[in-house]
Amino acid sequence: MKLNFKAERVLAVTAHPDDAELLCAGTLARVKEEGGAIAICVLCQGDKGQSSTPVKNLAAMRRAEMTNAAQLLGAKLFTGEFFDGELTDGPKQRAKLMEIYRQFNPTLVLAHYPNDYHPDHRAASALAEAASWFCASRGQKTKTKPMTVPPAVWWMDTVNMSGFDPGIYVNMAEHFAIKQRMLLCHHSQLSRGQDGDFSPLGELMRLQCTARGAQSGAPAAEAFRVHNVFKRARAW
Ligand SMILES: [Zn+2]
Repeated sequence: MKLNFKAERVLAVTAHPDDAELLCAGTLARVKEEGGAIAICVLCQGDKGQSSTPVKNLAAMRRAEMTNAAQLLGAKLFTGEFFDGELTDGPKQRAKLMEIYRQFNPTLVLAHYPNDYHPDHRAASALAEAASWFCASRGQKTKTKPMTVPPAVWWMDTVNMSGFDPGIYVNMAEHFAIKQRMLLCHHSQLSRGQDGDFSPLGELMRLQCTARGAQSGAPAAEAFRVHNVFKRARAW
């Protein structure tokens, strides 16, 4: 049995500019190849991901890095423009994300796991979940009209795989190379691998895909959990 994303519109909602590369870029590449539409929404600017050699205008640098990566993939890029470390689940933030949902009209949202280790990821998770309900609520007004059907939601793996019990695996072995090339766009973060207090991201990503692949009988895979709740649950 093989999932097919041909008729799907998949939106990844992430906290930071390199999260999609680490957690779901292979799946997005596969969706695109199968004929689906893809987009990435990055809620924070990445303004505080500094290495031991600080960059003056880090937010601008990270914007360029994520734009390059999204272009490589051929994904539409949305940004929330919130500051790192200040992302919370509030009405203003929900309205912004709701409007992004309504503009892209996703059938599936890939979101951070609610119990992720990073506070920004947890806030992004809560926002993505809330927006998945309110995007189809007529009482919630934003510029674009409400969606007719709320999207399904899949939780993404955590970067170090801790506390995440996969529910569904996507074989993205044929798309590992593009995921790797996208991650290479993030020079500001890859350089932090030498700092000692930050993981070498390229290696972490490779090990994760290999491990999730080994668990599911594929050369490389990305892991997700299906968020089965009212109106977001689907029969696959
Ligand atoms: Zn992150």
